[in-house]
Amino acid sequence: MKLPSRVINDADPSALSIEQALLRIREALPRLTDVQCIDCVDAAGRTCASDIHSPMSVPPFRASAMDGYAVRVADCQQTLKLDGESMAGHPGSDRLEVGSCQRITTGARVPDDADAVVQQENTECSEDGVTVRVMPEPGLHIRNPGSDSRKGDLLISSGTRLGPSQLALLAAHGISRVDVYRKLVVALLSTGDELRKPGNALEAGQIYDANRPLLQAMLRDDAVDVIDLGICKDSVTALKQRLSAAQDADLVISSGGVSVGDADHVRQVLESHGQINFWKIAMKPGRPLTFGLSGPEQAYFGLPGNPVSAALTTLLFVLPAIRHMQGRSLALPPALNLPLMDELHKNPGRVEYQRAVMQQDSTGTWSVGTTGLQDSHVLTSLHKANCLIELETDSRGASVGDHVLVYPFTHFAEPLL
Ligand code: AMP
Ligand code: MG
Repeated sequence: MKLPSRVINDADPSALSIEQALLRIREALPRLTDVQCIDCVDAAGRTCASDIHSPMSVPPFRASAMDGYAVRVADCQQTLKLDGESMAGHPGSDRLEVGSCQRITTGARVPDDADAVVQQENTECSEDGVTVRVMPEPGLHIRNPGSDSRKGDLLISSGTRLGPSQLALLAAHGISRVDVYRKLVVALLSTGDELRKPGNALEAGQIYDANRPLLQAMLRDDAVDVIDLGICKDSVTALKQRLSAAQDADLVISSGGVSVGDADHVRQVLESHGQINFWKIAMKPGRPLTFGLSGPEQAYFGLPGNPVSAALTTLLFVLPAIRHMQGRSLALPPALNLPLMDELHKNPGRVEYQRAVMQQDSTGTWSVGTTGLQDSHVLTSLHKANCLIELETDSRGASVGDHVLVYPFTHFAEPLL
């Protein structure tokens, strides 16, 4: 007889769901208001701080989309007399005599009298002139003025991150300077008497500080300046000292010291400096996440000390919060739904994120499997992962072949374009 497996309910009534926590973060976070007008060359990765309307129509003139001949469609049954040329940047005559054509290149202005461009491959050239082999429809291969955008159109709204495509769009409209929010200043520290900086020898009971390198890399962003406040001892005085060194920061992020142990002082210090908003999330890993204000305009995240918990709470809460402070949207990334290759176990009571690898088999089909041991100190299984599997609060695990929600790590990154 199969014995029922022992199920531990992991629920904590005082813990918030991820959605509730994100809502509270959004309500409490101070947002940047300082705006700078900077050269577009320096604006990659910054957040646009005003609505930008098109100052001109693009393309600004009727332009050819092909190399070939500008023609009057009605004339194309006869051999056409070659009457001049229009090259990109060197427009030819506006006029086109009846029964003639103009040699044209891609991007060149189409003469007003022409109503189509015939691509070179569909023509034959001889001493008598140009013969059209494939009859064009009116408008063929002509880019009309304003077909990309019209003067006065909203091009980019305030709150949009300026990536490569946005900067190309501004340039195509002749815009060379742009209003952006100033960079967000983030102060970073690790707490723990046991922590040593890599490069130094460990003494008994010590471990290396993995969280600052983790967070420094995760926070790398063209719109963020990081102040490194180093490693802080487990004492209220030491923590207060670090906080006073962080007065210029918009956001302070510490890791460790947020549980209920004797050396966990973050909560107490935050309460005395500002206000605590919440400190428990119904998720695994990462339950003891502290969020609050450490000054009137300064937000504070106290991340759990275990590196995997610190990484996941940064992905799910800190990075969205940073985007929100910068004037952008706080939305979570899109998820995929993939079949599972391994059996997964879980206790009900909190939503769980398991480190996983999504991969494609020889037939091109995608599936997802676990990276193994899921304890929150196990960095090797984070290193091997390329995605997270989300198992919902009431789930007791999943079986091979089940479809599960998958968040590829790349989806958390800023879009390339
Ligand atoms: P704490 O939240 O301070 O109780 O820490 C939880 C666990 O994470 C302990 O095992 C700590 O030693 C470990 N830990 C805390 N901070 C770090 C860090 N910066 N790098 C690596 N491990 C850490
Ligand atoms: Mg600690």
